[in-house]
Amino acid sequence: MSADCLFCKIVAGTIPSTQVYSDEEFYAFRDINPGAPTHVLIVPRAHIANITDVSAQDAPLVGRMFLRANEIAEQEGLTKNGFRYVLNYGPWAGQSVFHIHLHILGGRPMAWPPG
Ligand code: AMP
Repeated sequence: MSADCLFCKIVAGTIPSTQVYSDEEFYAFRDINPGAPTHVLIVPRAHIANITDVSAQDAPLVGRMFLRANEIAEQEGLTKNGFRYVLNYGPWAGQSVFHIHLHILGGRPMAWPPG
């Protein structure tokens, strides 16, 4: 856990969130400022600041994060019409929280290319 990290505090339960999924490795919750009718964030409980910080040792964890995200997308009813995963890195992508998180967005048609 990183003391100054918002998502570490959410994972620890010291900042409230609306839980969607939880297990020993991952926590998923609803985005506070949803960009789509369904907007879930899944994070590893372990603090990794950026996707570019992922080591070879972390790679299986990131793979499992996608497996869990696929299950959440199914549970949220997103797989019939489609959905989008987003993982922002750096200022041009608008990254605002430095604890890796996969956005699961769905419930409406998505434009391409993204803004
Ligand atoms: P990013 O821009 O990729 O770093 O995404 C960070 C996301 O975290 C944004 O979509 C925010 O709306 C979301 N967010 C920030 N604070 C909270 C919070 N307390 N609970 C849930 N989502 C949050």
